Amino acid sequence: MDLNIQGRKALVTGADSGIGFATARQLLAEGVTVVMSDLEQDALDAAAAKLDAKEGQLHAFAADVSDTSSVQALKKRVAEAVGEIDILVQGAGIHGPDGLFHEIDEAGWQRTLDVNLMGPMRVLQAFLSDLRSGGWGRLVFISSEDAVQPYDDELPYCAAKAGLLSVARGLSRSYAKEGLLVNTVSPAFIATPMTDEMMDKLAEQRSISRDEAIQSFLKEERPFMELGRRGEPEEVAAVIAFLCSDKASFVNGANYRVDSGAVATI
Ligand code: NAP
Repeated sequence: MDLNIQGRKALVTGADSGIGFATARQLLAEGVTVVMSDLEQDALDAAAAKLDAKEGQLHAFAADVSDTSSVQALKKRVAEAVGEIDILVQGAGIHGPDGLFHEIDEAGWQRTLDVNLMGPMRVLQAFLSDLRSGGWGRLVFISSEDAVQPYDDELPYCAAKAGLLSVARGLSRSYAKEGLLVNTVSPAFIATPMTDEMMDKLAEQRSISRDEAIQSFLKEERPFMELGRRGEPEEVAAVIAFLCSDKASFVNGANYRVDSGAVATI
């Protein structure tokens, strides 16, 4: 399916690995000019080198979404490289601390909310005028199954992701008439460095392999993931690319679950 977004310009945060990287790849394949951003320039450059892009179609600029001046510097570099963007995919995020409420200190809460909730707000503050100016814009936040199905051992993460869902729904009312559509994607248990790390921790605790940890996690913690496997980043990126496209012209304020059923609805 031609998504009809050739020549559009996108910024993808959290783009050097996982879902952000897969999204950058799919948008490039649709003929979009892509700016990848993530924390470390070296890792970004290495990731960019793995992608197929035409001359001038791909840019990679590091920025820390928890730092306002870094985000403002990103805005400047993007403007110099490509001008105004019309697609923004916000994927930068951390898992934050694990543990029950009494085991998580204020610093753990602050850091998780600062990166996962305030981070996307900082980036949006910097780029909202771009998204509004051309009469056509797409904004996608990567939320999580945790936003609507909170697990009691990762509440800062759940709260941040629920916040994103709420902001996205509110924002979807503000600028839609100007052509800016706002949606969220909520994945569950995708094979990325984030869940690799979670599974390696579990494997170490139980003295089992990563694959065994994945199988026991699916059985014990995600019984409604009917496909019985982790998702692939490309399976989330396909939905994000659709939401960033002209084909999603009547989709606004939606939350697309990409979770194989993790959020039990039946
Ligand atoms: P990932 O590969 O770890 O991607 C997250 C990226 O965000 C990493 O490259 C990370 O950089 C970057 N990042 C962290 N802090 C940042 C900061 N302060 N400024 C800029 N970038 C920062 O994991 P992923 O699973 O693809 O995650 C992408 C998004 O999907 C996240 O928002 C995550 O919460 C969400 N999500 C993932 C899953 C899943 O099952 N994987 C499920 C639901 C939602 P470093 O690697 O350098 O730390």
